[in-house]
Amino acid sequence: MVNRGKLYVVSAPSGAGKTTLVKDVLNRFKTLSYSVSHTTRAPRNNEQQGIDYFFISREEFEEKTGQDYWFEWAEVHGNYYGTSKGFIKTSLDQGKSLILDIDVQGTCEIIKSGLEMVTIFIMPPSIEILSKRLENRGSDSKKVIYTRIENAKIEIAKKNMYQYVVINNDLDKAIEELCSIFKQEMT
Ligand code: 5GP
Repeated sequence: MVNRGKLYVVSAPSGAGKTTLVKDVLNRFKTLSYSVSHTTRAPRNNEQQGIDYFFISREEFEEKTGQDYWFEWAEVHGNYYGTSKGFIKTSLDQGKSLILDIDVQGTCEIIKSGLEMVTIFIMPPSIEILSKRLENRGSDSKKVIYTRIENAKIEIAKKNMYQYVVINNDLDKAIEELCSIFKQEMT
């Protein structure tokens, strides 16, 4: 019999360095796979269809919502984001463990599912540093950055619902901390 896979949920305000940290974890733990989400937002510079996200239209997203397609979904910064229920079920049944990079609303939704999971929140060192990082990224307008900062404040206020909180002040230290959590949870 195959052991069922486990879910690792990682959330962080936009710009907290989550993408870099998650990529590092995936490089170190080869048995983990990344759950590619669907989104209605436009792709950023280097993002690829089916690798970073499945980029779909609002119409398609809403149609899938009507078909009970989502394991969880949420509207974040004015766009829809969702995780395919079929993908999660198939992966877990095949014994594959997955990292889900989803927001706080989505995490709330799946905690209720009762599935075995590990939840991790990545904290930026401060709101000021977060603003700077988003500005330096240069991929979002001032208005979008403002929305993301306001959202970050709401998300940070809910960090205690996660089992682990990692502060990304120093990238190397945050990677070490995150990896030791995965090592501990995977044994
Ligand atoms: P971004 O647009 O910066 O890639 O992501 C914005 C936010 O949406 C991030 O907090 C990210 O974790 C979240 N997100 C990405 N995919 C999903 C998903 O499938 N479901 C939910 N609920 N949030 C997601």
